[in-house]
Amino acid sequence: AEAHVHRSQRLESLGQLAGGIAHDFNNMLGVIVNYANFVIEEASSPSPDLKAIAADAKQVVRAGQRGTDLTHQLLSFARREVVRPQVLDLNGAIFEVEEMLRRSLGEHINLLVRAEPSLPAVMCDPGQIEQLLVSLSVNARDAMPSGGDLVIDTARHGDQVCLRVSDSGEGMSPEVLDRAFEPFFTTKGSGGTGLGLASVYGIVTQAGGEVSIASSVGLGTTVTVLLPVATATPSPDNPDISPIGGQGETLL
Ligand code: ADP
Repeated sequence: AEAHVHRSQRLESLGQLAGGIAHDFNNMLGVIVNYANFVIEEASSPSPDLKAIAADAKQVVRAGQRGTDLTHQLLSFARREVVRPQVLDLNGAIFEVEEMLRRSLGEHINLLVRAEPSLPAVMCDPGQIEQLLVSLSVNARDAMPSGGDLVIDTARHGDQVCLRVSDSGEGMSPEVLDRAFEPFFTTKGSGGTGLGLASVYGIVTQAGGEVSIASSVGLGTTVTVLLPVATATPSPDNPDISPIGGQGETLL
């Protein structure tokens, strides 16, 4: 079967993000306004039914609570977090989280790490790389409910370092693949946030890299991350090392 490839450049994240949020909030506000009106009507009747009023007020509270939850999700996604890129050994970063991943993936998933020896360093925030590895592994696990193989491998591709996360899971249809990086797009119902791949996209592009997905229904999915090799630019007053075409401290 031929794999379908989605290039991250097709993401139009901001417009989709705003559209999705506006839609969700509009639904919640609609519920709040309707039920608040019921409460007013019932309360103005000559013999108000207090039970009915309480039940309707409860709907107002529930819709408000959903709005609060959505706001929290949104804030943790969009938070203007200071990102501190540093010279990073990607293999080392993978080894750091390997045991934690193995435990949280469970015994039915076989995690294999294939780290290319003497991989050049990249310029990245270690916390963000960890978040990326966890997000991609969680997605792989979700795609393999009855078990399978998860392979994390690294390689050098010219002036880029390649990180691949592959699973033998259910794969994505072309329609899902097309929208996979969209913030809030999820096929997992209330079990998903739709922010995993959107965050991965943000992390990789911040680091001057690229991310793409190849997936075949029934065969599995491979997420490929390319990051620029850190280049040594040693000088007495700037001992730091910068990525090719990269910038220093950035805001996400
Ligand atoms: P979430 O995991 O919360 O749904 P993501 O942004 O991480 O959000 O993923 C968006 C959607 O892309 C998922 O709901 C799923 O349909 C699809 N997806 C992501 N990773 C995989 C994978 N490894 N295998 C199959 N489908 C995937």
